[in-house]
Amino acid sequence: MEFSLTTEQREIQMLARDFAEREIAPHAAAWDRDHAFPQAVFSKLGELGLMGVCVPEELGGAGADFLSYILVLEELSRADAGVGVTVAVHTSAVTLPIVGFGTPAQRERFVPELAAGDTLGAFALTESESGSDAGSLRSSATRDGDGWRITGSKQWITNGSHAGTFLVFARMDGAVDGPHGVSAFLLDGSDVEVTREEEKLGLNSSSTADIRISGAFVGRDRMLHEAHRGFAVAMAALDGGRIGIAAQAVGIAQAAYDVARRYAVERHQFGSRIADFQAIQFKLADMATEIDAARLLTHRAAWLKQQGHPHTLEGAQAKLFASAVARRQTGEAIQVLGGYGYTKEFPLERYYRDAKVTEIYEGTSEIQRIVIARHILARQDDRAATATAPPSG
Ligand SMILES: Cc1cc2nc3c(=O)[nH]c(=O)nc-3n(C[C@H](O)[C@H](O)[C@H](O)COP(=O)(O)OP(=O)(O)OC[C@H]3O[C@@H](n4cnc5c(N)ncnc54)[C@H](O)[C@@H]3O)c2cc1C
Repeated sequence: MEFSLTTEQREIQMLARDFAEREIAPHAAAWDRDHAFPQAVFSKLGELGLMGVCVPEELGGAGADFLSYILVLEELSRADAGVGVTVAVHTSAVTLPIVGFGTPAQRERFVPELAAGDTLGAFALTESESGSDAGSLRSSATRDGDGWRITGSKQWITNGSHAGTFLVFARMDGAVDGPHGVSAFLLDGSDVEVTREEEKLGLNSSSTADIRISGAFVGRDRMLHEAHRGFAVAMAALDGGRIGIAAQAVGIAQAAYDVARRYAVERHQFGSRIADFQAIQFKLADMATEIDAARLLTHRAAWLKQQGHPHTLEGAQAKLFASAVARRQTGEAIQVLGGYGYTKEFPLERYYRDAKVTEIYEGTSEIQRIVIARHILARQDDRAATATAPPSG
């Protein structure tokens, strides 16, 4: 068992941290207030290789491992969770599925632009009547000559207003209801109309848009994976994506802890530092411990994925735990600052608003529990069900 990062992982972590501290954190409050999407940041991240950090070099990526990418997401989210989710969806939910499921021609056509940050990716699964029950989606792919016409509306699509490549899930003509009838298609930004930009509780520097696709034609070369196998693409994307959202939650919680700890040693009441009161010490101790545990679960899931081991259970556990830590501990951090924590003079109220969504998207916490329960109850070997060690196969 090896807990330390490699030299390369540490270098990538420091690269992301330096960039986030210089180019993101100082502007995050203003982007939040103005609901501004920081387009220029993604070009700069592309120049640093951080828009395709775990994409193979031959496809234009930085060629690092999945854990390096997870470290980058934590650092970006620590500065601004909106930037974190933009990069997370772009990479885990669009670029990596094309790397994993695409034909050589599809990889060549789409991945280099995405990895360079020249094009942003969006993942379009959710519809107004189909959220957790994604297999019930209604968007359609109707046969037309050599290809299909895609028609439908998708809801809450991250990067929807800025993406050039959309991974869209639609039901084939005459296909059965449920997940088995779903196929995955790669559409261009010009095929998609943005019908609404959502107003949210937080993550205001990210774009969450409703989109409409009105009979856009796609040829056979735009189908990702096989016909009727789109749900497998979506589930694989979400398996990896959830580890990214866990890293986002860890980054938000870490940022909140940093502010609370610094404040606790500076603020005096009743003639002492508030850090000298056991009530405050216990809050900081719980925060530090829970964040560490969340990070370890996240890194374990990332390690399993990059070793090619199954990681559905461990990714769900990491997301379930880390998102609850982020929601709970951003609230506790506000408590440490008292009234100041509730004001916009400090970033904690933003962290608190941003943290909540990590319990909702890429599968709600209830859905993570269903995934976890299904795995632990299916296992024959009760010792393996404790999940303290990586599964063997
Ligand atoms: C900011 C933001 C960005 C997003 N980005 C994207 C994106 O890029 N692409 C995309 O496709 N989608 C995106 N989504 C959608 C997101 O993935 C869904 O919101 C999420 O999957 C939950 O679906 P729902 O909101 O329809 O909730 P519902 O499925 O309607 O669930 C409502 C409640 O019921 C519970 N519930 C549902 N089914 C069960 C069950 N079987 N057992 C127990 N409880 C259950 C849920 O846990 C939840 O508490 C985004 C959402 C947000 C808020």
